Amino acid sequence: MNKKTIKDIDIKGKKLIIRVDFNVPLDEHFSITDDRRITAALPTIEYALRGGASKVILMSHLGRPKGTGFEAAFSLKPVAVRLEQLLKEKVAFLNDCVGQAVKDAIGTCKERVVLLENLRFHKAEEKNDASFAKELASLADIYVNDAFGTAHRAHASTAGITQYLPSVAGFLIEKELQYLGSAINNPKRPMVVVLGGAKVSDKIELIKNLIPKANSIIIGGGMAYTFLKAQGIGIGNSKLEKDKVDMAKELMEQAKKAGVELALTKDFVITQAFESNDCKVSDTIPDGWQSLDIGPKTRQYYKDILSKAKTVIWNGPLGVFERDAYAAGTRDIAEFLAGLNDVTTIIGGGDSAAAVAKFGLEDKMTHISTGGGASLEFLEGKVLPGIAALNDK
Ligand code: AMP
Repeated sequence: MNKKTIKDIDIKGKKLIIRVDFNVPLDEHFSITDDRRITAALPTIEYALRGGASKVILMSHLGRPKGTGFEAAFSLKPVAVRLEQLLKEKVAFLNDCVGQAVKDAIGTCKERVVLLENLRFHKAEEKNDASFAKELASLADIYVNDAFGTAHRAHASTAGITQYLPSVAGFLIEKELQYLGSAINNPKRPMVVVLGGAKVSDKIELIKNLIPKANSIIIGGGMAYTFLKAQGIGIGNSKLEKDKVDMAKELMEQAKKAGVELALTKDFVITQAFESNDCKVSDTIPDGWQSLDIGPKTRQYYKDILSKAKTVIWNGPLGVFERDAYAAGTRDIAEFLAGLNDVTTIIGGGDSAAAVAKFGLEDKMTHISTGGGASLEFLEGKVLPGIAALNDK
């Protein structure tokens, strides 16, 4: 990585402001149902404390508040409580993220760790407003970005603030870039990409970027049916993006020219209504039916391809995995990847990460990205503004 990290600068006696991704899921009692985003930030926070930073000021967003001030449902207060338990030290929680009262509290509080209230209570955050970014910067001496999940957004706390402070990456961003970067730019071959999810339109840029890099691309999930349609195969009422059929044809042509195998669904788990769990395995999708999962022949076909891989990148579930009736395809492929030895398995964030977690296979994968949109944009070959803005080595 050509960006400076927290290891490249002197932090002793300095106030650090760290952008973390504490956007954790909360239940109706504001209890955290999954604290992995907090634990993922601990290496950077603990390093800063061990290295003698005088203050570690943490800032994050949570959910999608309106941007017009405090909303209890989006407060980071529950995160402060959990963070104290994990760090085993007191955390000062401040009820705003900018302003004189915040500055004063940071100056006078005894705690080494300070958590600011939700950045998105201010509209200025997502607008990347310069004066808001400057106010955030005025709280500290050094800026550290460790929020990979928002690195694809140019907000005040991810991009704007870098105009005013020395700016470096934390360990989570470093790790994400190492794993995703080497999987895509310098993979052990064969490199196989597994793509699924609902829509082709979300994955066009990804497929375009991967055709010159991958050895095989497996396409399943809802997006596969637009490709099958482009081949003239009957897809009944399965998910179709009519306006993307020509694009699917073009992508298949490009793959063929590049000598990249493009593996499509061969058999199906079909039903007569999306809401129904009444389904059967079939080699065709008759009119009036729709496919919500890959069938057993397809699972075997995909596993045969995957058994030769040395690097696997997976983005998007292969069926409606949230429902048991249509989870078998996604589960089977996840279990197969989990059982591979000496293969680098990279799981994109979002739904693929949720699927792997649902099947309890997280520890069996090489790397599960903490960023859905950010990992997708990175794999598309796009520049992530929150990373581009950091200081070069
Ligand atoms: P994405 O957000 O694009 O990754 O899409 C994930 C969603 O695609 C999941 O909620 C799945 O339930 C859904 N999905 C996967 N396969 C299918 C399918 N065959 N038909 C409809 N939806 C699907």
